[in-house]
Amino acid sequence: MPEDAIQSDLCYPVRMKDTFAELGLGPELLKELTALGYEEPTPIQKAAIPPLIEGRDLLGQAATGTGKTAAFALPFLQRIGHSKAVSLKPAVLVLVPTRELAVQVSEAFHRYGKSLGVSVVPIYGGQEFHRQIVALKRGTHVVIATPGRALDHLRRGTLDLSGLMVVALDEADEMLDMGFAEDLELILEATPATRQTALFSATLPPRIASIAERHLKNPVRVLIPRDKATKGSMPKVRQTAYIVPRAHKIAALGRVLDLESPTLALIFCRTRIEVDELAERLVGRGYRVEALHGGMSQNERDRVMKKARSASVDLLVATDVAARGLDIEHISHVVNFDVPASPEAYVHRIGRTGRAGREGIAITLAEPREHRLLRNIESMTKQKVDVSTVPTPLDVKARRLDLTKGAVREVLLAGELDGFRVVVETLSAEFDPMDVAAAAMRLAHEATAGSAAQEDEVHIPVIESFARPRERPPEFAPRGAPRGGRRADGPGSNARDMVRIYIAAGRRANIRPADLVGAIANEAGINPRGIGDIEIADAFSLVELPAADADRVINALRGATLKGKKVTVRRDQGYQRSR
Ligand code: AMP
Repeated sequence: MPEDAIQSDLCYPVRMKDTFAELGLGPELLKELTALGYEEPTPIQKAAIPPLIEGRDLLGQAATGTGKTAAFALPFLQRIGHSKAVSLKPAVLVLVPTRELAVQVSEAFHRYGKSLGVSVVPIYGGQEFHRQIVALKRGTHVVIATPGRALDHLRRGTLDLSGLMVVALDEADEMLDMGFAEDLELILEATPATRQTALFSATLPPRIASIAERHLKNPVRVLIPRDKATKGSMPKVRQTAYIVPRAHKIAALGRVLDLESPTLALIFCRTRIEVDELAERLVGRGYRVEALHGGMSQNERDRVMKKARSASVDLLVATDVAARGLDIEHISHVVNFDVPASPEAYVHRIGRTGRAGREGIAITLAEPREHRLLRNIESMTKQKVDVSTVPTPLDVKARRLDLTKGAVREVLLAGELDGFRVVVETLSAEFDPMDVAAAAMRLAHEATAGSAAQEDEVHIPVIESFARPRERPPEFAPRGAPRGGRRADGPGSNARDMVRIYIAAGRRANIRPADLVGAIANEAGINPRGIGDIEIADAFSLVELPAADADRVINALRGATLKGKKVTVRRDQGYQRSR
């Protein structure tokens, strides 16, 4: 990975050849990383792991997809090491904005810490308290929590933070957006002053800087340099991204490949395991596929390279490490099965295509949460990445027919059809010549197009409004003010029905908009950006929500508490509007 992918304090230079072992991780963690198929640390990991192992505080700028979870999970696990028996006083606390992230981060800690025997408890809104209390009472090394729920447990006395060694604030900007600023302060106050703190945030607005100033001690800073254009080194390549949920990525890739019909595509995956899995799935789609990763012997790799050079491979699926020394001229497409962990890695990858004056094509499959990485790539490369919708089975079918048509046209132009004319004449005595031609076309089509496309009826959801730059909702949106810039959507944007819910708690109960946004997002697990106007009266509050989410929110809030109290929640009848 390039050295200058991120900027780190001088005492922790990001060196190119750092391996996980060189970063100071012990054998148990290295074993798990190998089992997961990780070949090398990402830039944020190279910069963050050594100082965190040393016990330094850290302020890191990193979005989802950069490998930031491992950047703090691995050193934290290393620090708590073979902790004695699990304790009622956890050693590690990670605060995250949403329950989805709480689950993801818990899984990551669990996976990385398997050989160390580390125990992890996630606590988040929307899950029964009882279950979480039982888990906490059993004792644990690591707690991953959303701030609202962590505070609830602190108040009930079911979470003891007095033995904490380390705290991480993950996606701190998101937590502030969701109104958790005050909760974070209260939680941090309940932790020992001696604790080590790491703060990760995709953006570093002044609000984050001020939290860092108050709660981090002489932190190491790991930042993405601003406006660092790599334009000079950018090859001329057509760049497209498709936004696809993880579960649909392979189906989406299959369609994109069918549509693009590459001469040779180099497909990048993050881990060895992903390379092997994807290669296997693509073979099933009728492509000639070879895998290339660091776990293969030199002989195997030589064999693959020979095949790729002799044009007897359609798709080469590889990790960054394996593709590093690769020298093949005729790569027509580079595909990023995931957005690479840094813009520099992206530039490096797509430089494999578009050689020798040919037009290169770069395709990136991004998950909805990885939008910020794509933006970073655009802003650093000063080139646009077009966001497209995944082709439908009909698009693929039309394209395949086009290819068959092209192939038949070539045969027509080449002539030498005499041997076949007789057959056509004979059949034409019995059938309409147009039908005869259509039947021959069908045979040719099925022989070349295979059956994969015909069977592909999987529904791949279209992710809308991705291409627009994200605007942050104000922390406390006053009534009528646009949240997240969405209300400013002009004509032509998707109208969505909004309903209003009534919550029987208001100003007198010290309810703030942030409490409602936090409770709704975490108890009901809905995206806070969908929340509309919030009105807080003395005795009640009204919250506007997408109609589709209303019942879920009402049910979730009925089972939860607001400021420690159960409240009545119902639909505000008769209210409905579109936005
Ligand atoms: P994150 O940015 O923490 O959301 O991580 C993004 C994805 O990258 C997760 O699926 C991780 O499992 C994966 N990942 C993290 N570090 C590495 C690495 N060094 N090599 C390969 N995959 C990684």
